[in-house]
Amino acid sequence: MSDCLFCKIIKGDIPSYTVYEDDLIKAFLDVNPNSNGHILVIPKDHYENLFDTPDEVILEMVRRIKTILYPLLKEKLNIAGLTICQNNYYGQDVKHYHIHLIPRYNNDAFKCNFDKEQISDIKKVFDKLKNE
Ligand SMILES: [Zn+2]
Repeated sequence: MSDCLFCKIIKGDIPSYTVYEDDLIKAFLDVNPNSNGHILVIPKDHYENLFDTPDEVILEMVRRIKTILYPLLKEKLNIAGLTICQNNYYGQDVKHYHIHLIPRYNNDAFKCNFDKEQISDIKKVFDKLKNE
C-alpha cells in the first residue's frame, strides 16, 4: 500500500528505531511510547487488522514476541512485565496490522480503563452474549 505509513517504514522510506527484523516481520520502537521500550510488531505484508491477517502470520508474530522480543526487553530493560494489545477498526491509528508491546515497570502508572459510567450491568451484557 503506497500511502501506508508502516509500508513506508518497511521499505525504508521512513526511518525507524528497528530492534528486530526478518523476512516476515519488523519490530520497532513506537515514537509516541506509553512506556520505555514500547515496541510495535508488524507483518511485512500489508494487512489491515486481525481479521484479514492470516493465522500463520499472527502465529509467527507471537513466536517472535515470546522467543526474541520479550527476552530482549527483559534482559536489556529489566522490565517487570509486558502488556500486549492491538486495536481493530475503532481506535486503530495506522491501518496496517500491529501489535503493541508495552513494557511494565514496578509501580508504573499505566491504566487500561474506560469510563465506568459507560459500562452497563454485567448481567445485561452476558444475556446478549451467551449461547442459547
Ligand atoms: Zn501497510
